[in-house]
Amino acid sequence: VASPPGLVEELSRLIPGSVYADPAVAALYAREPSGLRGEPPLAVVLPRSAGEVSKVLRLAYRRRVPVYLQGAGSSLSGSAVPLEPGIVVSLEKMARIRSLSIVDGYVEAEAGVRLGELNALLAEKGYMFPVDPASVNVATVGGAVNSGAGGLRGAKYGTMRDWVLGLEAVLPDEEGTVLSLGCRLVKCRQGYDLVRLLVGSEGTLAAVTAAALRITRLPRHLVVAAGFYGRLEDLATAVARLRESSLDLLMMEFMDAPTVAKAAEYVGAGTPGGHMLLVAAETCRCEAPETLRLLEEMLRGSGAHSVHTAPGMEEAQGLIALRRAMYPSQVRLAQEKLGPGVLVYVEDVAVPPSRLVEAVEGIRRLAEEHGFELLLGGHVGDGNLHPIVAFDPRRRGEAERAEALFREIMRLAVSLGGTVSAEHGIGVLKREGLRMELEARGSLKALDLMRAIKRVFDPMGILNPHKVVA
Ligand SMILES: Cc1cc2nc3c(=O)[nH]c(=O)nc-3n(C[C@H](O)[C@H](O)[C@H](O)COP(=O)(O)OP(=O)(O)OC[C@H]3O[C@@H](n4cnc5c(N)ncnc54)[C@H](O)[C@@H]3O)c2cc1C
Repeated sequence: VASPPGLVEELSRLIPGSVYADPAVAALYAREPSGLRGEPPLAVVLPRSAGEVSKVLRLAYRRRVPVYLQGAGSSLSGSAVPLEPGIVVSLEKMARIRSLSIVDGYVEAEAGVRLGELNALLAEKGYMFPVDPASVNVATVGGAVNSGAGGLRGAKYGTMRDWVLGLEAVLPDEEGTVLSLGCRLVKCRQGYDLVRLLVGSEGTLAAVTAAALRITRLPRHLVVAAGFYGRLEDLATAVARLRESSLDLLMMEFMDAPTVAKAAEYVGAGTPGGHMLLVAAETCRCEAPETLRLLEEMLRGSGAHSVHTAPGMEEAQGLIALRRAMYPSQVRLAQEKLGPGVLVYVEDVAVPPSRLVEAVEGIRRLAEEHGFELLLGGHVGDGNLHPIVAFDPRRRGEAERAEALFREIMRLAVSLGGTVSAEHGIGVLKREGLRMELEARGSLKALDLMRAIKRVFDPMGILNPHKVVA
């Protein structure tokens, strides 16, 4: 698609040295890790300040050109890829820590700071930012804020919406207005909560250029145990008992038996077989042996045929690597089986943890009915499941068959009192699911409210068009 006349030149005049229109470079910003590809952008801009972002948005407003904001582009919901030719604004060069106050309990980071780097800095002071997506080493502050990310510590710490105190954001209006929203305080009322509205808005309402994030102390000490179960019901009993116990649980991760086997093959580890429940509990060093004993007792008491324990995080790395291998192992498996060009989609439903067995059995049944082999695991402490399905969109009818499966999985989750997206967002892959969930709750009107909000923030409809609410 030809660029509107003079667009690249005008951008280059506005932000000298930071505009790339080479198609080979642009193509890098048009895909997601799942293999999903979008429209190659007309230009990629790497601004270094909110002022530069404002200039780009002013131009895009005047010329009605779509703008796609990106951090690392690691989204799994189709939220970061362009659907129409437009300008990708990547915040990767805005990567400064503006301020850090242990006394006031916050860090202010620019949008391009990687969560892993943020945590390395905070760890030097004995602190952390606790939202921990499995992609933590690449995911950026702006991307995590806008995708409303969660992660492995969700059972204890929730998702981004619980940790953002304030935002610097640029509006896609005539002036490219720069706003400072919220405070650097835990208690702050500013009328309607625009900070929380922007968290999880997937780059459809405003460009986030910096965020003030709450921080918390590093855990004193962590002990880790993995229980392996023959029966899913027993694992679910363990989840319930652990949630009812007085243990301070930081992480509760699950993979079903076929998934454990594939992940173990991928990392070259041996396992005793069965469904795996991986649990990390916080404790003090002096009580670590007793906490670990209690944890092991609970896992065995609920039917685990084998329990592996680690007295600290260092010793637990092998078990954690097994969990982190869930997605890459499916990608490799799919590429070996179906060749390059395969799509590997990660579902993101959540159900109340008490409905785990029904959800897992239901998802397995649906996969069988639709003729797909899937890997299944997730953050069970908060009921979040990630069925992973690979398919080849070049094969006739394959994409439709996969879509039908995803639709049924989402329906199942909603029927169990759950939701279609816990942490990855709506993007393009879940628009229909969002509608279905709201309809099931008798709240379709909410979609009208969302569309109206979109028009107020983005009157020209130029920010990440066709995402979330079409
Ligand atoms: C292997 C793997 C594991 C993952 N594990 C998890 C997990 O455990 N939990 C989880 O929640 N997610 C997970 N993800 C998904 C993804 O990594 C997270 O959502 C992450 O927070 C996205 O950050 P990003 O910088 O890559 O954002 P991007 O993918 O670049 O963008 C995400 C969304 O935010 C918008 N956006 C980005 N920057 C801005 C900005 N500055 N202003 C306005 N909008 C913006 C984009 O338009 C897009 O809609 C995983 C992904 C992979 C590949």
